Amino acid sequence: MPRIKKLFNFRESELKKKALELLVERGVTMDDLIELVLFLQKDYYPHISREMCLHNIERVLDKREIQNAIITGIQLDMLAEQKKLMSPLQQIIETDEGLYGIDEVLALSIVNVYGSIGFTNYGYIDKTKPGILEKLNDKESDETHTFLDDIVGAIAAAASSRLAHSQGK
Ligand code: MG
Repeated sequence: MPRIKKLFNFRESELKKKALELLVERGVTMDDLIELVLFLQKDYYPHISREMCLHNIERVLDKREIQNAIITGIQLDMLAEQKKLMSPLQQIIETDEGLYGIDEVLALSIVNVYGSIGFTNYGYIDKTKPGILEKLNDKESDETHTFLDDIVGAIAAAASSRLAHSQGK
């Protein structure tokens, strides 16, 4: 089974590269992620720097399960944009139907990696939708970011949680 073997041999660095490329391609920059972490943490750590935020975001993006969540969610968004999903999944994802919920479940798999502070952070950022999250949620846009908005919020929440744990030591 050469195909399966090839998949499992996929180098970790290549997976990370693809995940990062997809984020940029879909309009999310490191600066956007830094802004979200600052938004979540500035009240708790007044001396927090952009470098600290970036460091924690990068460690989060090093995790294979998070890279997998990124490429899976973005792929579904892209297929929905290209109208290539089966019905009724096509309509559900295209219209970002509120009761679908699998976008949030995928995001929780990211948040999960860094423990319970991440859940609170994710819930808060998902409700307030600051910065890039507001842009990704623009209902007037032709783009589909049903999964991406939750993924981005979850990366910021996980990085904040990682930062909080590292400060507590
Ligand atoms: Mg969503």
